[in-house]
Amino acid sequence: MIDLHTHTTCSDGTDRPRDLVNKAIVQGLEVLGISDHDTTSGWEEATQTLRGSLKLALGAEISCLTTDGVSVHMLGMLFDPNHEEMQQVLEETRDGRLPRMRKIIEKMRAEGMDISIEDVEKAMPVGATMGRPHLADALVAKKIVKSRDEAFIDLLHNDSRFYVSHAAPTPVEAIALIRRAGGVAVIAHPFASHRGQILKPDDFADLVAAGLNGIEVDHRDQNPDERAMLRVIAQELDLVVTGSSDYHGTGKMNLLAENHTSREQWQKLESQADARRVVNA
Ligand code: AMP
Ligand code: ZN
Ligand code: FE
Ligand code: FE
Repeated sequence: MIDLHTHTTCSDGTDRPRDLVNKAIVQGLEVLGISDHDTTSGWEEATQTLRGSLKLALGAEISCLTTDGVSVHMLGMLFDPNHEEMQQVLEETRDGRLPRMRKIIEKMRAEGMDISIEDVEKAMPVGATMGRPHLADALVAKKIVKSRDEAFIDLLHNDSRFYVSHAAPTPVEAIALIRRAGGVAVIAHPFASHRGQILKPDDFADLVAAGLNGIEVDHRDQNPDERAMLRVIAQELDLVVTGSSDYHGTGKMNLLAENHTSREQWQKLESQADARRVVNA
């Protein structure tokens, strides 16, 4: 089984990279992709833990904003981790997440909610990319909500009055950057409509012109109609079709490898990177 999109404690997942790699080995996965939000900090521990027949497709899920303010997640995989511009852009995005979190918290405090930036920092692994799931965990710790899920449904979703975006590259910029760094770009859950505003079918041509390699089709946040539309777009634009779990440990219901990518599509995707960067034990 090939699962190309997962998270660890380096962003908003709850398994350390080594624990995730061990789980993938126990489940007999063929390829595991690790794609923490806006960071490559989990790559080293994951690589050190690797053994047996499991292979790693290391990457990052890059937060993007279109010029119209639509939030898009771009999976970059198999890029050179020492690419300076890539690391600089990822760092800028991470840096923007602290003032953004302060703004969200200010809005909540203005409505009388007892939550502070210190509460969020306490709920977060050291060095993790800060995100709304950590605020959700802080709200759970303060007994304001019962779970991450409830926090998102009631307070933290993209259309919420508390929502604040953070500085991020456009999807076109992120794709071009991933390709310059030698990797491949797969747009994550593009039609996950319940999260908020999404891209339109016409938007994909510009992404392909920028170098997009694939579309994540099989993902629990996309229903059968949304997946069918994406499959048509992928076929028309000759894009790789992926499926993945977007596993976050206990932070989300998503189970490791609940959706997966076919070997044929994976080989096509891997061959489009500028060097062979799959990590073997
Ligand atoms: P942020 O990066 O701060 O914008 O937060 C986005 C993250 O929140 C994504 O990684 C999602 O996986 C996560 N997320 C969205 N909805 C939920 C939910 N209902 N439960 C847990 N996590 C969620
Ligand atoms: Zn996440
Ligand atoms: Fe995502
Ligand atoms: Fe994700």
